[in-house]
Amino acid sequence: MRDVRMRGFAQRADVEEVDAFLRDFTHPLEAEPVDLLECVGRTLAEEVRAEVDVPGFARSAMDGYAVRGEDTFGASAYSPIPLALDGQSLPGQPFTGRVKAGHAIRVMTGAPMPDGADAVVMAEYCEEIDGRVEVSEAVAPQKHVGAVGEDVRIGDTVLRAGRRLRPQDAGILASIGIARPRCVRRPRVGLVVTGDELLPPGSRPEGPKIVDSNSVVLRALVDRDGGEVLPFEILPDQPDRIRAALRNSDADVVLVSGGSSVGTEDHAPRLVAEIGSLDFHGISMRPSSPTGIGRVDGRLVFLLPGNPVSCLCAYEFFAGPTLRALAGRGRGWPHRRIVLPLAKKITSMIGRTDYVRVEIDNGSVTPIATGGASILSSTVQASGCVIVPRGLEGMPEGSEVEVFLYDDEQP
Ligand code: AMP
Ligand code: MG
Repeated sequence: MRDVRMRGFAQRADVEEVDAFLRDFTHPLEAEPVDLLECVGRTLAEEVRAEVDVPGFARSAMDGYAVRGEDTFGASAYSPIPLALDGQSLPGQPFTGRVKAGHAIRVMTGAPMPDGADAVVMAEYCEEIDGRVEVSEAVAPQKHVGAVGEDVRIGDTVLRAGRRLRPQDAGILASIGIARPRCVRRPRVGLVVTGDELLPPGSRPEGPKIVDSNSVVLRALVDRDGGEVLPFEILPDQPDRIRAALRNSDADVVLVSGGSSVGTEDHAPRLVAEIGSLDFHGISMRPSSPTGIGRVDGRLVFLLPGNPVSCLCAYEFFAGPTLRALAGRGRGWPHRRIVLPLAKKITSMIGRTDYVRVEIDNGSVTPIATGGASILSSTVQASGCVIVPRGLEGMPEGSEVEVFLYDDEQP
């Protein structure tokens, strides 16, 4: 293998080529049972069919009186019909007897319909007087009665495999009696954060030391994409330490931050090549060109450049889609998108894919000038990013561009 340290990349792969490689390599992880209260946002691994009817009994849809509909025919405000009141049915406490012709039972919303009754008269149209109820509205049979299975029927497919569970999905799972839906396991991510200059997040930067911000960003991105970061330490630029961390057998995927390039202290690419395979090193993109992708012990390893914007960008292009695929989600970028005109041209280069931070102002898009890969604040200032594909030399002022927004919600 050619040692690229202090020489640079002889050639660079295209973003699309790397993406195709990763696509072939990633399949959803296996299913695991997940607590109902934890399942929102997870991917359902298997179709769910109802084994019960919901409701399992006919129920009143109103507070009122359960009657035989035909007993009320002809009732009106001018000629109310009196019915004998025999008792009541409450939710969870049904009336046990049978409603006979000329009789009624007081019922509350959600209470089981008593036997014999087939309709409910709303309380507004009734008046209780001396053990009787005067009904001043006629109701046809089934009026204000919720049938067995009106919400969910036995055998219904309630949710399909691959569904990203919403709050109401967890609700319906609860209502059909499921305690632990089977979901795609969350990918476990080993973080290998290297750099002799790094202090742990929460420290104050001092002298030549800087604070590791990449692991903070990566953790949140992994979380967004349905993965979980395993406990990790910040490592010095020492080959033995990095080699051991690359072999983390608890991980499904390893993300290395820093030391991915061609500097003398950039050990990770050589180590991946030595103990596994370094499938790509050097990608035709800006930022993040010193990104590497390889495999160790059957696990994908992403070598993300240490520069914070490069680290973020390389994650978005390569690690993010992979983690989402492992988590059973779509590989596509999860950002909200908006199409707006460019207020100022974007320059790029044919053959290179660019990730451009942009601001949105007054309905138009402006690239951020302070754009170096080390300038994390450019991504803080930005509303989102525009991707200039490999085939374009740039994007002219006035052209409509698609912005991938950093914020999920409308402001
Ligand atoms: P490297 O990829 O290791 O050559 O690092 C490139 C630049 O990114 C250097 O200025 C590093 O100090 C910086 N850097 C490396 N790791 C991190 C990190 N975890 N957080 C913030 N900056 C980093
Ligand atoms: Mg370094």
